[in-house]
Amino acid sequence: MIQRTATPLEVRAQATDINASWQTLLAQAIRDPETLLSRLGLSLEWLPGAVQGHRLFPTVVPEPYLSRIKPGDPHDPLLRQVLPRHEETLSDDEDRNDPLEEAATTVTTGIIRKYQSRALLVLTGTCAVNCRYCFRRHFPYGDNRLSPSAREEALRYLQRESGLNEVILSGGDPLAMNDRLLAEWVRAFEAIPHIKRLRIHTRLPVVIPQRVDERLLTWLRESSLQKVIVLHINHPNEIDQAVADAAARLRDAGATLLNQSVILRGVNDQVDTLCELSERCFGAGIMPYYLHAFDPVLGAAHFRVSDDEARHLCRQMLSRLPGFLVPRLVREVPGGESKWPLDLGLA
Ligand code: SF4
Repeated sequence: MIQRTATPLEVRAQATDINASWQTLLAQAIRDPETLLSRLGLSLEWLPGAVQGHRLFPTVVPEPYLSRIKPGDPHDPLLRQVLPRHEETLSDDEDRNDPLEEAATTVTTGIIRKYQSRALLVLTGTCAVNCRYCFRRHFPYGDNRLSPSAREEALRYLQRESGLNEVILSGGDPLAMNDRLLAEWVRAFEAIPHIKRLRIHTRLPVVIPQRVDERLLTWLRESSLQKVIVLHINHPNEIDQAVADAAARLRDAGATLLNQSVILRGVNDQVDTLCELSERCFGAGIMPYYLHAFDPVLGAAHFRVSDDEARHLCRQMLSRLPGFLVPRLVREVPGGESKWPLDLGLA
């Protein structure tokens, strides 16, 4: 069944207010594939496959992110990251529910400890966007919910482990949590003498830049810890003026901004796209950090880019960009002592 494509004016007319608070934008995010397709004026021929994928991992797309997707283009690289597809029901032998074997490194409820000096705290399973390739799409968030007693146990663990100097807040998206709770966590980390750095892995300032409001900036600015915010941006079209402004506010509050991307088929598997992404990140004051080789998570094989192809793309980036704009190509190896840089070899 082919539907008429909505004009950009019609698409905008159906939009929720982009000036709303981040909480409203998150609450009113699109949560079903039919609305997503219809808001973008796309044919409902995509719907049966999208419903199949949605049943496995729900659709979540907030308004500010939607506004950067080109209406009427089923192959838009931002849409590809968020529209469920029939391929998510397929699997091959390599695919895993837990490709990084994080269950084996969960040391207490909510804490994943892979590396000597860092501990990763899963604060929430909520995200402002559900990325179809997410390696945690099957993560047992329910088992890692931080009840008051689990919170106390997590803090006791961080106090006991004097070899730690950095706490990484991850998820889900830690910035989906309210600022009162986040500020309480940060004050608790500040009270542990060996914790020097707070790292936040988040996509929220990208998908809902309104998240970077005065409440967030206040606790961030006031924290005595060194602050590193690792954003997650895969395509240059994800960075608009609102995202650049949000990045500037975070920097002004004393945060160092880095970006990590995942190499994804049909999204950023072109050297022009990757170079433009690095340039736009740097233009917004965000340093390119990691380009992750694809993790073989069940339901996302259609995004797979081989390591050889990823190496080739990075070699091409090196020939076009100054070295500081070329992210490190890395693979996470379960049980490894660090992320593993993929050797680019000689061209
Ligand atoms: S925002 Fe991050 S954790 Fe959430 S679905 Fe996307 S990649 Fe996964």
